[in-house]
Amino acid sequence: MSYVDDVLEVVRKKDADEQEFVQTVTEILDSIRPLVDKNEDRYRSLALLERLVEPEKIITFRIPWEDDEGKIHVNRGWKIQYSSAIGPYKGGIRFSPDVTLGTLKFLAFEQTFKNSLTGLPIGGGKGGSDFDPQGKSDRELMRFCQSFMTGLYHYIGANMDCPAGDLGCGGTEIGYMFGQYKRLINTYESGVLSGKPVASGGIVGRDTATGYGAVYLMQELFEEKGCSIDGMKFALSGFGNVAWGVAKKLTELGGKVVALSGPDGYVHIPEGMSADQVDYMLEMRASRRNKVKDFADKYGVYFSPYEKPWGRVKADVYVPCATQNDISIKEALRITSEGTCKFLVEVANMPTTPDAIGVLVNAGIVVAPYKAVNAGGVAVSAMEMSQNSEKSVWTLDKVDKKLREIMKNIYREIEAAAEKYGMPGNLIAGANLAAAEKVLKAMEEQGVC
Ligand code: GLU
Repeated sequence: MSYVDDVLEVVRKKDADEQEFVQTVTEILDSIRPLVDKNEDRYRSLALLERLVEPEKIITFRIPWEDDEGKIHVNRGWKIQYSSAIGPYKGGIRFSPDVTLGTLKFLAFEQTFKNSLTGLPIGGGKGGSDFDPQGKSDRELMRFCQSFMTGLYHYIGANMDCPAGDLGCGGTEIGYMFGQYKRLINTYESGVLSGKPVASGGIVGRDTATGYGAVYLMQELFEEKGCSIDGMKFALSGFGNVAWGVAKKLTELGGKVVALSGPDGYVHIPEGMSADQVDYMLEMRASRRNKVKDFADKYGVYFSPYEKPWGRVKADVYVPCATQNDISIKEALRITSEGTCKFLVEVANMPTTPDAIGVLVNAGIVVAPYKAVNAGGVAVSAMEMSQNSEKSVWTLDKVDKKLREIMKNIYREIEAAAEKYGMPGNLIAGANLAAAEKVLKAMEEQGVC
């Protein structure tokens, strides 16, 4: 058996109860076979892949907090410090009732590769809790975030582990956590968290970075394929911060955003969203109701309850911006039989199941992988770390220029890696190969650790 197969067999046994982790490890190791095969004996003798599939550290902690009625709740918190091969652990904190250790391990593994693609010195990590922010008051949210930080603060630091936001955790939550961290350590160490509100040491443009970065990468891709955003139709899933950034930039560039979705269904806006409608997405997020129907009620557009837009809405580009495994084989078949979609641009982490990707690719749809597409968020987080350690303030112009440059480089790099390893045009493999080359090289350089 090949080295990759040997390692996959161990992961499938050892982590059998962590399905998403097994899924992502399988997907990544499978696609880096050409790199591993070329170096098989050396990698094997160093147990490089066995080390790659094992997080460096996992921390679990208890999060007790009191609601507005005085009732005490207990949630569970986790911090995965996955890989410090190329920099301090870096990645978001996810608050969602469906978060498990397996989810965070999958996200931290992915993050290690994504961060490598940015070309910046950041390792991979992830954190989170099974806490549900929906329907909580501001004070409840604050008390929860303070308790979360009390459990976490020993394990983080600007040169150790720098968390940021993720699903269910935005600038407000990061602000509360930063306040608590300062109290606990009695020092103004702003580099410990990124995605902070701007007055608290955050960087301008972090809120739009993931969405804008995704659109900058699309520009590179479309240019190469001979089309342009202007006039094209885009169907999005999600309506949170990331979907908002994507919708805002696409609309500015003349793209027509024709669908948004939430857990309650999707809305269809055949003529494309207006700037005003894009702004309303921010109000929807702030309401913490998690209902896209609010959009339909306000603007009188079509609402389809409990359905996803995939293959139901005509669009040139489908852009999943919500959560993992949003497009499975059923949706992929619907997409190919509907027939208008030419590109799938993944913005959420792992939004498409591997078998669904197979169906889409076979039908000639170009898939741009999330690891590359959504790396703009963490790239601007790394700029925030630089800003904080320089004790300076970056301008929006500087951030935006650097973000464009990084997204352009990522696209070129993944394309070149696909070509180098004999899979021209396969951007998914290209992303995994380009990212793995750097991480594995740094691991080798640092010896067995
Ligand atoms: N949660 C985001 C991601 O998945 C951002 C992480 C960060 O900024 O550290 O990349």
